[in-house]
Amino acid sequence: MTHQLVITIDGPAGAGKTTVSRLLADRLQYRYIDTGALYRGVALAAQRSAVAPDDDGRLEALCRELSLHFVRSPSGGSRLHCGGEDIEDQIRTAEISMLASSVSARPAVRQFLLDVQRRLGQEGGAVFEGRDTGTVVFPEADVKFFLDAPLAVRARRRHAEFEGRSVQSLDEVESDMRQRDHNDQSRALAPLKAAEDAIRIDSEGLDPETVVAHMLTYIEKRQPTTVK
Ligand code: C5P
Repeated sequence: MTHQLVITIDGPAGAGKTTVSRLLADRLQYRYIDTGALYRGVALAAQRSAVAPDDDGRLEALCRELSLHFVRSPSGGSRLHCGGEDIEDQIRTAEISMLASSVSARPAVRQFLLDVQRRLGQEGGAVFEGRDTGTVVFPEADVKFFLDAPLAVRARRRHAEFEGRSVQSLDEVESDMRQRDHNDQSRALAPLKAAEDAIRIDSEGLDPETVVAHMLTYIEKRQPTTVK
């Protein structure tokens, strides 16, 4: 039987993780797990229940009641649901991005989502995208990547993704990103950093297909008999 790998792709916002992780999962016929969506799901629930992002007691109680899961969408990809509600669109706002960055520093939230992520990875055959998937969630992952690019490049990409629909200017996108980078890198628990055994890739000037082709060379080395 083919051994299904756990592959992790960590890095800051706008480094190209989502596009690359989706493509790579597609190529390998693996599941793609967007762990940032889970933090956004907790942030949305906190916002709706008016729970302050530093109220550990209420955050813990909130997490106990939360049922977050990914549902395959008919158009491909997966969408985050909370209970029976599709919350994929609501979690993609600039406000929820910042709130996710705040609640993600809290121990109760990290512990809750650690268990959720490990359950999702139990059977292997998945590409996990996040901040600490190679360092904390799956320290024994089969192949780890750390995808990065300069801040200005990442901000330009994120702003362009909105194709003129952005309510934020390029400067605002860059300033939010700088703040989130700082929060994610400086928090005491599971800070954003590359695992020692991660393969680092700077995506500046590289198209996603090139990044994926590069990643596949490492994956094939790791599993020469099973990746075709
Ligand atoms: O990747 P995305 O931008 O959707 O993540 C939203 C926020 O969730 C990040 O800024 C980070 O604070 C948090 N996060 C995390 N650990 C992960 C994934 C996301 O702390 N594995």
